[in-house]
Amino acid sequence: MNNIKMVDLKGQYERIKNEVDNAIKNVIDTTAFINGGDVQLFQRNLEKYLNVKHVIPCANGTDALQIALAALDLKPGDEIITVSFTFVATVEVISLLGLKPIFVDVNKNDFNLNIDLLEKAITPKTKAIIPVHLFGQCADMEKIMNIAKKHKLYVIEDTAQALGADYTFSNDEVKKAGTIGDIGTTSFFPSKNLGCFGDGGAIFTNDDNIAEAIRIYANHGMKVRYYHQTIGVNSRLDTIQAAVLNVKLNYLNDYNVARQKVANHYNTELKNVDFLETPGFAPNSNHIFHQYTLRTKNINRDNLQKYLQEKGIPAMIYYPVPLHLQEAYKYLGFKAGDFPVTEELCKRVISLPMHTELTSEQLFFITDTLKGYKE
Ligand SMILES: *Cc1c(COP(=O)(O)O)cnc(C)c1O
Repeated sequence: MNNIKMVDLKGQYERIKNEVDNAIKNVIDTTAFINGGDVQLFQRNLEKYLNVKHVIPCANGTDALQIALAALDLKPGDEIITVSFTFVATVEVISLLGLKPIFVDVNKNDFNLNIDLLEKAITPKTKAIIPVHLFGQCADMEKIMNIAKKHKLYVIEDTAQALGADYTFSNDEVKKAGTIGDIGTTSFFPSKNLGCFGDGGAIFTNDDNIAEAIRIYANHGMKVRYYHQTIGVNSRLDTIQAAVLNVKLNYLNDYNVARQKVANHYNTELKNVDFLETPGFAPNSNHIFHQYTLRTKNINRDNLQKYLQEKGIPAMIYYPVPLHLQEAYKYLGFKAGDFPVTEELCKRVISLPMHTELTSEQLFFITDTLKGYKE
């Protein structure tokens, strides 16, 4: 049996090596390294895949979030509601722009923003909500959009972990994650469900004015070359990355299905293990398993991680410390106990190997080893 990896980029690459190598070589042959044809092609391909009017590629998922916020008419001190149980980027960009992060606790079952707590967090200063579609399934967008409409708030969906996930509305309409709010953002970091061979990101919107503001801000605040109408940033997707993504986008649905098969194995084999709780399904969303994350019960989670490590099974903790208790965010004045579900999850969660190349032999080794754990 081959070594078990948390993520297997090499195995995934080898299956499409010829296609990817040719795509990269093509870019090198043309030397159109910046804004080459593959960038525009990828933009159109992703617009088609997501069924969204505008895709604006950029340099990474963190930039995507920052550009999205900067393109809206916000001013320092405006409040942005999001979760504390997420990757730091979501909150980092709010702070960097002089805006104020306001946290809402998450659901214990699906790890996403708890809708019942959302409205209580809204104040006259609230301007936007950033739901994070954590680990591969959508936050409850219909309810979020209704609340946002009622209070005239923008919604920016952090779709870095859920590109390709579907959300179904009560009228049976299905939309892709990231295309429901005013703006969606994603990352093509290599280990994401759609990953490139370096850094990459994108922003989506159906709003022509927002799209224009995003394009200008991401391009040094200019629409006409060397005429700068606002202060912007430089955030581009390299042509080589776009070329890789044009190949890999064709496989995204297959990749997501492969991840779901891994999750099905874990769910079936682990559902009756008394010290584990398998991940819950979010309402109205499918799950594309960026991560497969269990909650441990009545055991020391870190000891379980060590045990797995010793058996050759990597397992990761996403995330060990909630953002509201991080040193960098002390200035916000939160304390332990403020978001009890988030804090409990940080102590109890453990994520198992999740990628497109896991074999049945590896999967049974992982679940049999887990079942054999004794504290
Ligand atoms: C990965 C990730 C990001 C940031 O993406 P980068 O491309 O690494 O900047 C933002 N939000 C979430 C939830 C992520 O998982």
